[in-house]
Amino acid sequence: MAQGVCVITEFRDGAFRRVSFEVASEGKRLADALGEPLTAITLGDGVAAAAADLGQYGVEKVFAVDQPGLQDYLAETYAPVVAGLLQTLQPKVVLSAASVDGKDLSARVAARLGAGLAQDCTELQVEGGALKAKRPVYAGKALAWYEWADESWPQMASCRPNVMACLIIDSSKKAVVETPAVALSAAAKTRVVGVEAAAGKVDLAEAQVIISGGRGLKAPENFALLEELAQLLGGAVGASRAAVDAGWRPHAEQVGQTGKVVNPNLYMACGISGAIQHLAGMGSSKFIVAVNKDPEAPIFSKADYGVVADLFQFVPAFIEEVKKLKAAC
Ligand SMILES: Cc1cc2nc3c(=O)[nH]c(=O)nc-3n(C[C@H](O)[C@H](O)[C@H](O)COP(=O)(O)OP(=O)(O)OC[C@H]3O[C@@H](n4cnc5c(N)ncnc54)[C@H](O)[C@@H]3O)c2cc1C
Repeated sequence: MAQGVCVITEFRDGAFRRVSFEVASEGKRLADALGEPLTAITLGDGVAAAAADLGQYGVEKVFAVDQPGLQDYLAETYAPVVAGLLQTLQPKVVLSAASVDGKDLSARVAARLGAGLAQDCTELQVEGGALKAKRPVYAGKALAWYEWADESWPQMASCRPNVMACLIIDSSKKAVVETPAVALSAAAKTRVVGVEAAAGKVDLAEAQVIISGGRGLKAPENFALLEELAQLLGGAVGASRAAVDAGWRPHAEQVGQTGKVVNPNLYMACGISGAIQHLAGMGSSKFIVAVNKDPEAPIFSKADYGVVADLFQFVPAFIEEVKKLKAAC
């Protein structure tokens, strides 16, 4: 009989991504509610040595597939390995991250297992021994609760980054690590030939502070203002689709329905009107600050703090104040 919760973690560049700790913490909460064990599956190159650290978050046992061929995420290599392990482990609930790779992997694994999957969940509960998941729908206009049919196995959900708490239960606790022998598919039709990472930049999906700009910035060079502020606050720069379509910013920075869904502590929208498609990507941020010269701009209905001003006057003055505060600390 299926039992326990299993989390699928992400290991990149020699370390677990923060969202994996959030997923593990949420997994621990659900496993406790079910009174069942928490395990993890992790794939990567050099992952076995780091896997025991997941014990801090309450993971009892980690199944680590550690091979050079798993250094970079590749759907067609990862999905059969994860699906095969889940078939052996038979967990009741499977959680993963709703990151770009996590959503891709969990959809493929769910299809292989014939399982029901709720993507991009913002809340999970156990009721009557079964999983219930809440996720935003209709571009964030509504929230829907999902349940799994009795015959659906396993109950799979991916967790939106930066929403669930990251809780260390015991920093000295180590998980038991098993390294199952798994043969990778030799028939892979694709391979990663290189990864171009933006050096020193904070990943938008995991950023705690995002300073975003839209058409109101008027020209690409004006984004230097937002870059300066983002750097001062240890954050990342985001953009509206209008700014991306104009070629001012790369698509990787686009926030919204057809861009990234972000959930930082602080989202500062500068010169962005607040179209529904943009709100779909940042509406669940913890604090939203809007800077717009139009007091009727829809972004103000979503903002915790609204600044009706010309951003070219406000942002430089704000930067100076931040610098003064930082110097005084
Ligand atoms: C299918 C579909 C998917 C889409 N997906 C996305 C998406 O993922 N992300 C997204 O962002 N959009 C998306 N859009 C586009 C969306 O509908 C809007 O067109 C877009 O978000 C507008 O971008 P903006 O706010 O930068 O520009 P605008 O709507 O033109 O707003 C610019 C704002 O800047 C203000 N402003 C101008 N000058 C200044 C100044 N000096 N100081 C202060 N404020 C100033 C103006 O008052 C205005 O409110 C999508 C649309 C469709 C149809």
